[in-house]
Amino acid sequence: MLGQMMHQPLLIKNILAHSQMAFPTTKIVSRTGDNSIQSHLIGDIARRSAQLAHALDALNVQAGDRVATLAWNDHRHLELYYAVSGIGAVCHTINPRLPQKQIAYVIEHAGDKLLFVDEGLAGLLEKVLPLVKNPPTIIVLAGTTSPLPPLNADADLLNYEVMIGDQADDFDWPDFDENTASGMCYTSGTTGNPKGVLYSHRSTTLHAMQVALSFANALHEGARVLPIVPLFHVNAWGLPFTCPLVGASLIFAGPFLDGPSLFELMDSQQVTSAWGVPTVLTAVLQEIKRAGRPPKGLNNILVGGSAISLGFIDDYEDLGITVNHAWGMTEMSPIGTQGSIPASSRHLPLEKQRHLKKRQGRGIFGIDMKIVDQNGDEIAQDGKQSGELYVRSNTTAAQYYNNPEATAEAFHDAGWFRTGDIANIDATGNLLITDRAKDLIKSGGEWISSLEHETAIMTHKSIAQCAVIAVPHPKWDERPIIIAVPTSDFGDDKDSKVRAALFEDVLSLLGVEFPKWQMPDALVLVDELPLTATGKISKLRLRQLYRDYFGDTNE
Ligand code: AMP
Repeated sequence: MLGQMMHQPLLIKNILAHSQMAFPTTKIVSRTGDNSIQSHLIGDIARRSAQLAHALDALNVQAGDRVATLAWNDHRHLELYYAVSGIGAVCHTINPRLPQKQIAYVIEHAGDKLLFVDEGLAGLLEKVLPLVKNPPTIIVLAGTTSPLPPLNADADLLNYEVMIGDQADDFDWPDFDENTASGMCYTSGTTGNPKGVLYSHRSTTLHAMQVALSFANALHEGARVLPIVPLFHVNAWGLPFTCPLVGASLIFAGPFLDGPSLFELMDSQQVTSAWGVPTVLTAVLQEIKRAGRPPKGLNNILVGGSAISLGFIDDYEDLGITVNHAWGMTEMSPIGTQGSIPASSRHLPLEKQRHLKKRQGRGIFGIDMKIVDQNGDEIAQDGKQSGELYVRSNTTAAQYYNNPEATAEAFHDAGWFRTGDIANIDATGNLLITDRAKDLIKSGGEWISSLEHETAIMTHKSIAQCAVIAVPHPKWDERPIIIAVPTSDFGDDKDSKVRAALFEDVLSLLGVEFPKWQMPDALVLVDELPLTATGKISKLRLRQLYRDYFGDTNE
């Protein structure tokens, strides 16, 4: 027997309409490329999105067309999210930190019809466009008074504000199937070309609701939320949808993503919650230490994208700022878990609770997870045995866009997505990522987890950042070495004795937890570690740089 309830399609336009009606004082504050602050009410954004929808119509954008963005976080980018999806087209966000060839690849692969580019990124686009066979029409995201940047391609150049300026500010948003594609994002950080994930109105709306449920301590009416995570990658973790849905204001940082600028913005805009990857939130922490105080009103941060250390958690929580931890992937819209302390563990000594925060947490509502062994067979969730993590949900991709090879590899177990993360899950459903499958180190036929080593090394007071990587070895196939950035108080001490003493110290720290054969063979100190396009430490690049550390093993 079927239920007898109405069926209303889950469409993104409803989020904006609801926000405008229920939370009209919600603000969207943007630091734009010229370093000025612009503030809009959610109703202004709805009206400007309507104007944009008319302009898209005038440019003959049809349902299903891909409309690309190459832009930092601000209100115009948010308007594109709503207007493009609202007319049934697909908002394809492009990561400007991708190599130029890959930007050209994604524009071509997605078949973008229009491309909206920030003034400040026009120079980059100028280099990319000659690599694209059928370049899209270019619209520059700039104020009416700004002269258009010189792009040497043949593409038409339009100005966003001029384009929407004379349009009517209401729009009869159409109804359509909730499974209609709404957004598109390409994954990065792996070898080969990026892979496209095509989100739908249904998955995006469900994700917004799930995130609201899971992070209610951060996202609520009156909260002021800073997505340091970019709108150009994985929907800025869903914040452009969840914040309006719950009446939280959005504060956008534009291109100014260094520690001092973020601190200043948080302070002046009284940000209550900041969301970002560990590298950026560590830069903010350094600024907090320099200023001798946290930004006014900052109540919590949400950190994800890479593992976090106990020191990172302590530094923030000692200031009274709650650390929320989450894990997710582009393929998962992106949030999969939330790492709060389960009620059943809140009686534990604080020391144990700290360790629990490092775990990536329990699945948010609707996410199923299983751990499988090398044969693809499910293994017990006992918090001990690690294997590859598989997931499924209404907010997880079912395939990659126009990419049968990558689809066959990641979706071969019917109904499940292979994450490529190595993890265990304990009896309370609490996930711990122990590595990326491709970052595991295989020494003499045995596996070593780089992430577990890094977590231990990061507790050393003289290590600010580190990566443990596999280096080809003539006898053991691979051996681990540590590449690390020392803390500023370690100074520029290039004295080899001091370095050797630090390595000894790190080894004795590791010796408490790990057997002798797992001990890294070397510690290399560097000034900085290479980052991926999404701000994570690029182990791929490090593996290339240190490939011949033990000599050329291909000889
Ligand atoms: P992306 O698709 O760029 O969001 O990257 C997804 C990958 O980032 C995951 O498969 C994990 O390897 C990693 N990741 C995301 N969140 C975390 C976290 N909290 N801890 C450890 N790794 C994470």
